[in-house]
Amino acid sequence: MSTKINDPFNNAQKQISLAYNLMKDKENHKNKIDIISNPKRIIEISIPVKMDNWNVKIFTWYRSQHNDSRWPFKGGIRFHQDVNISEVKALSMWMSIKCSVIDLPLWGGKWWVIVNPKELSEWELERLSRWYVRQLYKYIGPEQDVPAPDVNTTPQIMAWMMDEYSNLVWVYSPGSFTGKTLTSGWSKWRGEATAQGWVYVLQEILKLKKKKVKWKKIIIQWAGNAWLTMAKMLTELWAKLIWISDSRWWIYNEKWLVVNDIITLKESDKSVIEYSKWQIVTNAEILEKACDILIPAALENQITISNVENIKAKLILELANWPVTPEADEVLTSKKIQVIPDILANSGWVMVSYFEQVQNNANYYWDEIEVNTKLKTKIESATRDVYNLAKEYSTTYRTAAYIISMKRIFDAMSDRWNI
Ligand code: GLU
Repeated sequence: MSTKINDPFNNAQKQISLAYNLMKDKENHKNKIDIISNPKRIIEISIPVKMDNWNVKIFTWYRSQHNDSRWPFKGGIRFHQDVNISEVKALSMWMSIKCSVIDLPLWGGKWWVIVNPKELSEWELERLSRWYVRQLYKYIGPEQDVPAPDVNTTPQIMAWMMDEYSNLVWVYSPGSFTGKTLTSGWSKWRGEATAQGWVYVLQEILKLKKKKVKWKKIIIQWAGNAWLTMAKMLTELWAKLIWISDSRWWIYNEKWLVVNDIITLKESDKSVIEYSKWQIVTNAEILEKACDILIPAALENQITISNVENIKAKLILELANWPVTPEADEVLTSKKIQVIPDILANSGWVMVSYFEQVQNNANYYWDEIEVNTKLKTKIESATRDVYNLAKEYSTTYRTAAYIISMKRIFDAMSDRWNI
């Protein structure tokens, strides 16, 4: 298999052209598909930072700003030593699509900084964060580009950046960054939003299919920090979690996993081997076990042409970014295994990011119930739109989500630019 096949940006472009070709009024959007096939702007900047030993170290930052038909740009800042420009571009494009499928007035961006934050002291990390804002504050701000945490970035980092931005523009601007600490304007229910979004999407799809989460056999493959919250929520709905994996371990109980036992395991230093009632397999094997719902939440390219024939799940809920390759997706469709795509399933986080910004800008804060109710209403309605359009076009949920999203982007482009 050539590497191009699993190149994230190439895959993203393929996906939008697939959806475009199915659009009923595609003739009206010929020039717009070319515009959204590439980011509008990619910024590369080198930032010198004084380290604790007084040496200066240069850090490279990238920002891909995908489309600006409805400002501001929105998307995470990732701190990671291994940059992949194709991924930066793809993530910004996905962010436009993700915001649009849930009808948020935000468009996609992605920041990526080449750094291993574990090698920096806290002071160095703070200087790096503040220096970046000093160099780039003309490109960011509540009406321009609103970053949020991503891999290796934290609410504390967002709070430093927001503080620096506010100092520079001489206006307290909590809406310049989201995912900040509680005292700098974090939204209630933000911690739960990612997992809650996953559960609402899943519940709504099952409801539309006249099914329920109750008694469904579920496998979760490595769901990062939010997985435990989701596991608890699913257990409260009487789902049967049968396999769960983390970055270090994979456990199984053919009848039911007790989430509290897993919490105890996570908190202890014991090896899973000590829990003899649980069978241990590899992270790859877990994907191939029989279940009702498979939740790949770990890394990209988990279900590929080499293992797709062995997938026995009835429904797949994607929580990782692009865990299913486009080629594997085609095979899943022919096997009638439906996939709830990442761009819909993962939208809870950015939805509450948006709510955070709205509350920041209004300086009026909602309680948990209000945030959760708004989240539920918007996610359920987006899920229904995707389900109905997939039926109408006899296509997959993924392509339906892209069609809905691209239509909104195209309409905004037409209205603003008369194209
Ligand atoms: N890490 C998230 C992403 O880039 C941030 C989204 C947001 O802006 O809230 O997908």
